[in-house]
Amino acid sequence: MLGNLERAVSIRRALISRASNTKTLEGSLIPMVGYDYSRVMGACCENVIGYMPLPLGIAGPLKVDNVMFPIPMATAEGTLVASTSRGCKALNAGGGVTTVLTYDGMTRGPAIDFPSIVLAAEAKAYIESESGYKTIKEAFESTSRFAKLQHIKCAMAGRTLFVRFATRTGDAMGMNMISKATEKALEVLGNQFPSMVVLALSGNYCTDKKPAAINWIEGRGKSIVAEAVVPGKVVKSVLKTTVAALCNLNTKKNLVGSAMAGSVGGFNAHAANILTAIFLATGQDPAQNVESSNCMTLMEPTNNGEDLLMTVTMPCIEVGTVGGGTILAPQQAVLEMLGVKGANYDTPGANAQQLARIIASAVMAGELSLISALAAGHLVRAHLAHNRSQLNTPIPSRPQTPGLGVSTNRPAVEQSSASSQPQNGDAVKS
Ligand code: NAP
Repeated sequence: MLGNLERAVSIRRALISRASNTKTLEGSLIPMVGYDYSRVMGACCENVIGYMPLPLGIAGPLKVDNVMFPIPMATAEGTLVASTSRGCKALNAGGGVTTVLTYDGMTRGPAIDFPSIVLAAEAKAYIESESGYKTIKEAFESTSRFAKLQHIKCAMAGRTLFVRFATRTGDAMGMNMISKATEKALEVLGNQFPSMVVLALSGNYCTDKKPAAINWIEGRGKSIVAEAVVPGKVVKSVLKTTVAALCNLNTKKNLVGSAMAGSVGGFNAHAANILTAIFLATGQDPAQNVESSNCMTLMEPTNNGEDLLMTVTMPCIEVGTVGGGTILAPQQAVLEMLGVKGANYDTPGANAQQLARIIASAVMAGELSLISALAAGHLVRAHLAHNRSQLNTPIPSRPQTPGLGVSTNRPAVEQSSASSQPQNGDAVKS
């Protein structure tokens, strides 16, 4: 109404500040000037009083499918970028990361009530029939140039039918696109079953922004598997550990430990750390890090145990390069740096898929570096406990009991306590 967005922001900020208990907002350090609010209005945020800056670092570059990419990470967690960079260095030394995309489909799962289980089952049979599916697919795809229905999965809970639509969404992450398409498909289903009641367009059978086994098992967004071989000498020189120690720790922590904890999709060390930092840098919907961070990290020895073969499997990377926060100029600039800004006109969807491949590869770098740090720490402790010369421990550095001074017969006690420590096979051998 004022015809000046920055002035509007400043007035709103003053009003909110003066009505608050602390009255600090108006003169606070939250920045306000020099921001393009026209891209925000009606699209990204309401009641805007400024913007929240985040440090942006670059890890890498990392070689992904033979192309070098700088890895953009917006984070306030010190060491995260440095650690990911170290992982990139080790991965590059082995020739980089190879990725495959195994699935691409955003999902929406409405909840629909029917008067009886018989009618709900009839609707399920209709959706699963050839002609019913065709009718619904036509309606669904009429709402967007990019929505391409992949399949529908139905499940009944009493007289409530849950219908999980899965679709291609081009270069968009696709939640708005699929919501619109699902609404149209349900309109057509309603013509066939007038007594049905759509309880919610999202019946949590999607599942968006919540942990759910269905995403882990069936995939949501882009499903990526990434692979790399790290030479054993690089494991030693860059990562300061050994192939055997890495494989052992990865199995015990990421597989056994997560199984002991009853995890779903959490078979990794810190995939969410890297993924979320890239999400923030590239304008993704950050709440979707819940399912997008699902990841299984696997490590095994290869080339007669000399080198490390590593994979990450991420079935639910939900990203886009058009729509949502990707329309903001700084986020767009980051996408541009990666060569995936906006729509891919030759192959719609290729930009978003490329971004997902970069994210999975960067996650691998982060995983490799953290598991190595943990394994190296373990090695250092094991060497200190088992290999360190007793002569290196000067007597005066031992704690003294007041009044007694340093006992002269302590070395014998020390030796016996060292030898009574459990032997850690892999670590000590290495
Ligand atoms: P969108 O901006 O709503 O839709 C994408 C738009 O870009 C469509 O109009 C599409 O054209 C157009 N487009 C042009 N070129 C394209 C290409 N190559 N590929 C794909 N689309 C292209 O984006 P969205 O990803 O569907 O929705 C993102 C937003 O949804 C985010 O802001 C997110 O926070 C929000 N969100 C919504 C829900 C929800 O339940 N609705 C849930 C979670 C998040 P057409 O008109 O032909 O389709």
